Amino acid sequence: MSAAGNGPPRPALVAGNWKMNKTNPEAVGLVRELLPALLPTPPCEVVLCPPFTALTEVALLLAGTPVRLGAQNLHWEAGGAYTGEVTGAMLRSAGCAYVIVGHSERRRLFGETDETVARKTRAAHAAGLAAIVCVGETLEERERGETEAVVDRQLRAALFDLAPEALAQTVVAYEPVWAIGTGRTATPAQAQAVHAHLRGRLAERFGAPGAAVRILYGGSATPETAGTLLAEPDVDGALVGAASLNAPTFAAVVRLAGAAGAR
Ligand code: PEP
Repeated sequence: MSAAGNGPPRPALVAGNWKMNKTNPEAVGLVRELLPALLPTPPCEVVLCPPFTALTEVALLLAGTPVRLGAQNLHWEAGGAYTGEVTGAMLRSAGCAYVIVGHSERRRLFGETDETVARKTRAAHAAGLAAIVCVGETLEERERGETEAVVDRQLRAALFDLAPEALAQTVVAYEPVWAIGTGRTATPAQAQAVHAHLRGRLAERFGAPGAAVRILYGGSATPETAGTLLAEPDVDGALVGAASLNAPTFAAVVRLAGAAGAR
């Protein structure tokens, strides 16, 4: 199902997930190189998600620009004895507008479950952050024909009991696990099929506000692959890992998203 022309427009969004990369001087260097390629008016909404340690430095560089800051994770509690964790309020105070929740690396390597992803999504909203909620199947799940069942389960757990105001502060990222950091990108048709399925589920559950939720594609997106992916009617932008660590390649993906335009 294409939601083009159906409900409010969905402005394209590209988020860069730097993962566990970039010291503070490296982060500053990357942002200083990137901003001239994006300003004064980025061709679409852009979010940079550095590691926690670089958030404040990057926030200073983004201040006064339309480029937004995001974090890669948060804890669901509002404070307390949780060594090594950070709250949504801490991220807000560091300048974040967004936070990635439920990335497959967090699910796979750090034991996050549908339940903790749901709690983190609520904690993000409670702190005034927009949540970028990641869903996606493993290769084995795809080969067993379980893709739709897996993303349905993940979507339902994280989103289906959100209030309308919280839904409006939510972005979904479809990230097939087999495509993340592997150099193997989903084909535009594979991505479109899952995005259309997710949008259909959101529309069934929430009506027009559900259909208006932006759904990003993530998984080895590069300037070579992003153009055709972003041309698909239900692909509203990209969550970019490796290619976001290099200013010219990230700026090229942003330009392609801008050229694809709002949905
Ligand atoms: C990601 O980490 O969200 C991601 C999509 O990574 P990569 O682009 O490197 O596959």
